[in-house]
Order: sequence, then structure tokens, then C-alpha cells
Amino acid sequence: MQAGRSEAGWRLENTYAALPEQLCTPTEPTAVRLPRLVVLNEPLAAELGLDPEPLRSAAAVFAGNERPPGAEPIAQAYAGHQFGHFTNLGDGRAILLGEQITPDGQRLDIQLKGAGRTRYSRSGDGRAALGPMLREHLIGEAMHALGIPSTRSLAVALTGEVVRREKPLPGAVLTRVAASHLRVGTFQLAAALGDQALLEQLLDYAVDRHDATRADSDEPAIAFLEAVMQRQASLIAKWMLVGFVHGVMNTDNMAVSGETIDYGPCAFLDVYDPATVFSSIDQQGRYAFANQPAIAQWNLARLAESLLQVVSGDQEQAIEKVRGVLERFAEAFERAHLAGARAKLGLAEEHGEDRQLFDDLLASMQQAGADFTSTFVTLADYVESQGPTGCLPPGLTPGWLERWRGRLEREGLPRTDVRDRMQRANPVVIPRNHKVEEVLAAAEIGDLQPLQAFVEVLRKPFAKTPENEPYRGGPPGGSAPYRTFCGT
Ligand code: AMP
Ligand code: MG
Repeated sequence: MQAGRSEAGWRLENTYAALPEQLCTPTEPTAVRLPRLVVLNEPLAAELGLDPEPLRSAAAVFAGNERPPGAEPIAQAYAGHQFGHFTNLGDGRAILLGEQITPDGQRLDIQLKGAGRTRYSRSGDGRAALGPMLREHLIGEAMHALGIPSTRSLAVALTGEVVRREKPLPGAVLTRVAASHLRVGTFQLAAALGDQALLEQLLDYAVDRHDATRADSDEPAIAFLEAVMQRQASLIAKWMLVGFVHGVMNTDNMAVSGETIDYGPCAFLDVYDPATVFSSIDQQGRYAFANQPAIAQWNLARLAESLLQVVSGDQEQAIEKVRGVLERFAEAFERAHLAGARAKLGLAEEHGEDRQLFDDLLASMQQAGADFTSTFVTLADYVESQGPTGCLPPGLTPGWLERWRGRLEREGLPRTDVRDRMQRANPVVIPRNHKVEEVLAAAEIGDLQPLQAFVEVLRKPFAKTPENEPYRGGPPGGSAPYRTFCGT
């Protein structure tokens, strides 16, 4: 039986599947032994125009055993620079079911991750383990609630099969929802094939999907590059303002939609250290926290190279045009980051000294080993309480506080306005690494309640609540856990 068409509300179209065979291959998910639903993201289902009720018994759909109505499953081809080295890739374990048309007219990819082998699997098994899929669900929901563009997960289903990693683990399939799965690496593939018509077709498709307002540009490749550049500048600025380290910013993991994609080794900073690297495979620190803007620009340069064949003029003129766009990345990033930094400090006006004020705070946080998230929460508390009565928390020097207070006073806004602005910009709860590990460990032995409770808390990250109190502090024994603060 097919999952109820009218019942569940599937409204799938398959525009990507209609693209040339160099870009995708029809591929059925491989059925699994015993599908069982462990996560159904009901708020997201509603946004997609899906009725959660029938979905609760649709484990077979979310495990890949049954097609939702209208699906034409494919695996997508792409290439990419992985840690700087060019490789041909493709969906080795992901299968796109189709594009759901939402009630408000958006077209969103519905993809099963861990759904079995494809022609792009190479030596991989095409499968995924439960822990990493739950982690992707958790962090995707947290990012979304933090106002950071992200792919999200509609469901996680157990397969009833074991996957072999360092040890045997429960297998799972994640249903990923994305504005699209077009990556910088998709353009690299088309360019590497040397097929200009294919590249033009891909560009048309991407522009239609993400930048339809720019479709009439007389230089579509440049207009598209500019739009992707702006989205990435804004996205990376948002990462930097919450202490997010993606961990594997290969060009195949950079979506042209501007959504964060592929939550593998990512993690959030506790203590502020710009050199932080979480991923054990990133031994050179290529994807360290502070390197992320430069890496984004490097990835955009790979997109620019891929588009050269479809930019008008001779080679030299085309290079000049793309260079102009790439050179504006630094400025676009700075603008987005500084705007966010001002919001974190409660500032409404723009003054020349603001960059220095923010950077000096970061420098003293680094020196003191202060917790990134908690420091900003403390600043908001400080505004609320008219100033610290006890000792200063780490990372806040009297001199710096004086400068900041002077800067706020010059704006002359009511204290409550400043506090509100700060509370909207500074999360009190993020997916702290030790908490993430704790709830995943429970889930792996069958207790999903801690994960569900954490996801609920992460959906409202900006206000202190009794529910989020246990999740706010840094790791036990860390250098600056929230509980050591004594400012207010
Ligand atoms: P990632 O680092 O997760 O972005 O994956 C890089 C490439 O490896 C992509 O082409 C994935 O589809 C592929 N891949 C990752 N895990 C597996 C797996 N278990 N089986 C097959 N392919 C995989
Ligand atoms: Mg990937």
C-alpha cells in the first residue's frame, strides 16, 4: 500500500530528475528489515503541508521501503574539493524522493539519507547509523531556531539492521528537507565534464529555483555568483556569531541555497578560542572556527571557476567579472558580521569604534578562556540589573565594560530596549557538546526522552526558562562554565 496520497498531503514534483543523466541517476532505496519511526518532526511536517497523523504510521516510507505518492527517486551526481583535493562524488547514501510543494508555494527537496547504495557509493555501504542521524536532526532544529538557514529533518527511522563502523551500530535513515541539494560541487562536476550546454542548463535550473528574481539579468552567471556569495557571507557571519564550527566545509558540503548542510563533525564553541577544531580528521585546522570566512571565499572561488565557461566575453574579461564578485565577499561578510555583533552588544546605531569594541571583547574572552555563549548572556543580565555587584565574569574587564557602557549611554535608549535587543541576539541555550553526547548516548540504548526534551528546549533558545536551565552551562570542569559567573 502506498502512504495515503490525499491523507498525508504529499505533493511531490520531480524537476531535478528531469535534468540530464550526467547530473542524476534513477535509484530506488534499498528496503530494510524492520522500519521503525523514532523521530517525526511534526512542526516541520505542518510547514510542508503534511498531516502528522498518517505519517506517524509511515515508518516504511521514512525507511525507504515504500514510495510516497509522486516520488521518482534519484541519486544526484556532484564533484567537490575535499580538504582541498578535487574528487568526483555524488550521493553515496542519499536518495532524493522528489520536491514537496508546500502550502505557501515553496519547492523543498525530500531526501532519504542512509537509504542504501547508489552508483556513487564507491566502497561505502550506503547506510547511516542512528547516532549521527539523530545528531543531524538535533543540530538542524537548533540552527533553525537560532535563525540560521539550515536543512532540517522530517524524520529518523530505524532500519532494524546493523551498520558496521568501528563497532556495530543501529542503522537509521534520516529524511532531510532542503531548499535544494545543489552544491558548489554540482557546478564543479558540470564544469569538469566540459559540457557548456549542461552547465547552462544547470545554471538555469539553479537560478529558477533560488534566484528567479535575477532570471532576466544579461549576465546570469555573474548574478547567480553574486547571490550565492551574499548568502554565504550572511550564513557564515551567523555561524561566527553563535560559535558554530561546521567542521567539513568541502565544496560538496556548501549549498548554493545558503543553507547549512551536512552536520557531520560540527560543534559549538564552549570556551572562546578562534583556533578551535573539533574534527579529528582536520589535522591541519583547515576548517577551524576562525578560518570559516576564508574557506567560504575559497569555495566561492571554485564556484566562480566552474562558471567561467558561461560568463560572456573572452577568458580574461570573464575572470575580471568573477573576480569583482569574489572581492566583495570580505565586505559582505564584514557588514553581516558587524551588524550581528552590534545586536549582540545591544547597539542600535553604527559607530566607527564598534568593530574594535567587539574584537576587544573577543580577545579578552580568549585570554580568559571565557565561555562564548555565557559571556553574552551575562552582558544582557548586566544591562538588566544595572551592573555587576560582585566580581567580574571572565572575559569582561572593567575598562571594556566602561567603554561599552559609554557607547550605550550615547545612544540613550531605554535600558529595557537594549536588554530586549540583546536577548533576541544572544541565545541562552545552544547544543552544548556534552549535552549532545549525553542525549545521544541515551538514545542509542533506546531512551529517546532526553533527546526529545533537548530538542524542545533548543526550539526556544533566546529566553531563560525553567526548562532550559539544566542545558545552559558549559561542560563540567571546563574553563569557564556558566555556573562560575557571579556578576549579577
Ligand atoms: P560527507 O563527508 O558526508 O559529505 O560525504 C562525502 C561523500 O561520501 C559523499 O559523496 C557521500 O555520499 C559519501 N558517503 C558518506 N558515507 C557513505 C556511506 N556510508 N556509503 C556510501 N557513501 C558514503
Ligand atoms: Mg556531504
